[in-house]
Amino acid sequence: MRVSDLKQEYGLFVLAISLMTLLQLGCATQQTPARQGRETLEEAAQAMGGLEALSAIENITRQGTVQTSSLRHGRLSTESAWVQPVRPFNQTIDFTVPRELTFRISGGVVSMADGVKGGYRDIAGRTLTSLDANQLGEYRTHWNRDIARFLVHALGEESGIEGVSKSVLEGQPQQVVQVRYIDGILYRVYVQDSSHLISKLEFTEAHPRYGDLDRERIFSDYQEVGNLKLPFSVVYKDMGEVAQVREWSEISVNDELQEYLFEIPEAIRESVHSLAQIEAIQMTPTELAPGVYFGETKGMNSMWVEFEDFVVVVEGPNNEKQSLETLRQIRETIGEKPIRYLVTTHHHEDHNGGIRTYAAQGTTIITHLKSEPAIREHLAYPFTLEPDRFAQSRQEPQIESITDRKTISDGTRNLEVVHVPTAHADSNLLIYLPRERVVFESDMFTILRGETGTPMAPAPAKALYDAVTQAGWKVNQIVPGHGRLLQWSELVAGLEASE
Ligand SMILES: [Zn+2]
Repeated sequence: MRVSDLKQEYGLFVLAISLMTLLQLGCATQQTPARQGRETLEEAAQAMGGLEALSAIENITRQGTVQTSSLRHGRLSTESAWVQPVRPFNQTIDFTVPRELTFRISGGVVSMADGVKGGYRDIAGRTLTSLDANQLGEYRTHWNRDIARFLVHALGEESGIEGVSKSVLEGQPQQVVQVRYIDGILYRVYVQDSSHLISKLEFTEAHPRYGDLDRERIFSDYQEVGNLKLPFSVVYKDMGEVAQVREWSEISVNDELQEYLFEIPEAIRESVHSLAQIEAIQMTPTELAPGVYFGETKGMNSMWVEFEDFVVVVEGPNNEKQSLETLRQIRETIGEKPIRYLVTTHHHEDHNGGIRTYAAQGTTIITHLKSEPAIREHLAYPFTLEPDRFAQSRQEPQIESITDRKTISDGTRNLEVVHVPTAHADSNLLIYLPRERVVFESDMFTILRGETGTPMAPAPAKALYDAVTQAGWKVNQIVPGHGRLLQWSELVAGLEASE
C-alpha cells in the first residue's frame, strides 16, 4: 500500500467519524429529555382537542357531584378521615378574570370567588362570610391546576419542561413528564401511552399544616365536549389518601355567563373588598375576666389564661401564622410569661395546625390519650420545603396525655380539663374555669358572627349541656373554637329550638 493510499484511507476514516459524530449530535438535540417531554405534552394537548382549542377555553361549567373525605378529621380518633356524603356540585370557572362560582341547580350561589374583587361563601343559608387573601390565593392555585388550563400553561414560556421517564399506572404504560410549572412547583404529568391523555398530576407542595404535602390529581372518563376531550372524573389524593372525588355529568365551555350571579351582595360588599387584600390573621382579643382572654379570628379561636408564673393557651388551631399572631396578642395582653401548657380540645387537624409553633418553644401539649397519635403525627410532618419554627428548633415534643381529667392550678386560679366524648370526636376535651364561670369547647356548639335565625344545636351541643349540668358547673360564657363568644342562655335556647 502506498503512502498516498494510506492518507486517502485515513481521510475517509476521519470523514466517517466526523459524520457519525455529527449525526449523534443531531440525534442528541432531537432527543433531549426536555424536547421529548415537550413532544409528549404536545401529543396530550392534541388528544384533548389541540392546543389552540384548549387555549380558546374562556370559561368552563361543570355539573355533577363531589364526595369529600376530610383527612385527619375522623369522628373516631382511630379513623384517618371523615368521609362525607356525596353532594351535588356545580361550578363555573371563568379563566378570563379569573373567577369561580359554585351554585345550586335550583338557583342560588353557594360561593363566589373573584381574583380581583374578592369573594364570599354562603354558609348553609345561615350567614355569608367573606374570603380573605389567603383563601383567594388557594382559588388561584386551583384555577391554574384545572386540567383544561394546565396544559396550556405547561407548554407556555413561563413553565420549564425538565424531562420525561416511563412508568405504569393501573397496568397502563405511561410517559411521565416533569414540568416546573408557573407556580414554581415541579409536577409529574402522567400521559397514557395508548390514548395520549393525561391520567395524573403528581406533585409535592409546601402546606401550612402538613409541611411537604404529596398530592395527586387522577383524571379518567374522558368524554367529548364540543371539539375538546375532557375528564369527567377527577380524584384528589393527599398523602396517598383519597381527599375528594368529583364526578361530572355535564361539562360545557364558553357559555354566556349570567353576570348577576357574580355580583357581591350589598350587605357584605365592603367586607369582601377589604378582606380580599388582607393576608394577615386578624385577631380581636376580648378580656373575659382578669387574665382570661378570648382570641377570636374569622375562622378559628384560642383562649389564654394567665397564672402566677406561666400562661396556659387553649387550642392551637389553623397554622403557624395564626399561632404567631396569638403569641403576639398574649405578649400584648399579659406580657412575657412562659407558655407552659397548650391544651388542645380534640384530634382534628384544623384544631392542631398551629401546635408546632408552641412545641418549638418547649410548651407542653396537653391532649387526650386518644388524640396523642394525631398530635405526634402533626409534630412529625416533614417541613423541608418551607421549614417552620418547629422544624428549625429541633425541639423534642413535650406531650402530656390525659385519660379523664386534669387540674392546672397556681393556688389562686384553677383550670379544669375534662374528657367529654361526643359524636363529633371521641377524644373531646372541655376546659372549665370555675371561678370565672367560663367553659371552652370546640365543635360542640357554634354560632358564626353575623349569623341570623335560630342557631343549630346538634348532638354535641346536648353533650355540652349534659356535661356541664351533671358536673354542677356554673357557666355564664361559652368560649368556642369556631364562631363568636356565646352566652349559656344561647345554648339553652338553641337546644329548646332544636327539640
Ligand atoms: Zn372537629
